[in-house]
Amino acid sequence: MTDKVFHLGLTGFPLGHSLSPALHTAALQVMRLKGEYGLYPAAPETADLQCLLERVRQGELDGLNVTIPHKQTVLPLLDALEPAARAAGAVNVIFRRDHLLIGDNTDLPGFLSDLQQQFPHLAVPGQRKALVLGAGGAARAVCAALHSAGWQLCLAARRPDQAAGLITDLRLSSAENLPLDAAGLSACGSVALIVNATPLGMAPNPQNNPWPASLPLPVGACIYDLIYNPPATRLLQQAQQAGLAASSGAGMLVEQAALALERWTGRPAPRQVMKQVLNNWR
Ligand code: NAP
Repeated sequence: MTDKVFHLGLTGFPLGHSLSPALHTAALQVMRLKGEYGLYPAAPETADLQCLLERVRQGELDGLNVTIPHKQTVLPLLDALEPAARAAGAVNVIFRRDHLLIGDNTDLPGFLSDLQQQFPHLAVPGQRKALVLGAGGAARAVCAALHSAGWQLCLAARRPDQAAGLITDLRLSSAENLPLDAAGLSACGSVALIVNATPLGMAPNPQNNPWPASLPLPVGACIYDLIYNPPATRLLQQAQQAGLAASSGAGMLVEQAALALERWTGRPAPRQVMKQVLNNWR
């Protein structure tokens, strides 16, 4: 065991109950590393986030995860971005290198890696079309990941201006921008993959569903729901009833956390232990 003590944590607002402390604390123990993972709420339009980043710069904190509403607002406060954060225009991990604050995005490789694991038959060369629901921070990582893997994209969001901003920032000039309703979703036509990047269906409102009840899911599409609690959302149940391949975001959650921990500690993270923590928590 090294003597180094890792001071890690999560910032966002509000933070409420988060799984991240349990996930990272269990992993640190198995890695035989000393440390703790705290919650650091930072209210928007205050100096909270800047003060917290200063603590990372000074070495008081070794690394932070970033969540809503700071994944994009943190960008101008950082010294440099890793390629994934630049591609997504969003940051979910912060670390220090040579007294500089660096932003990274592990949602992007975390999503891509789990997508390949869940739906290996989708990893074929050629033009494939994906429909992404939502245009927030996670949708940015998903769209950047799919674009890098050669997918053609349709975005369906309740605010067309938010989707337009994503399309511009990520330079997705050929992506379609559709309303998140039955007319918009059917206008996208035949798709091989649908990704839910909205919180619709997440606990404590599992009755919600981003897919309208009146609209059948496209034949043959794979459905990936970023939500991991509950394990089977209404959307995933609907997909299973229609005989479609479907996956929750549990694998992505573990992979993005494992990649962050590896970034902070420089050691391989125990993914199986982290999966177990998630399964015990739900
Ligand atoms: P976010 O930045 O707040 O974006 C959420 C998106 O969904 C926005 O486009 C938002 O539109 C839209 N939305 C919210 N409520 C809606 C509603 N009632 N009807 C229609 N659209 C709605 O959040 P995020 O960070 O992207 O997270 C999105 C989901 O992904 C969450 O469930 C989160 O838990 C999950 N997630 C999972 C992982 C994982 O590892 N599995 C990683 C990241 C995120 P407005 O801006 O108009 O509200």
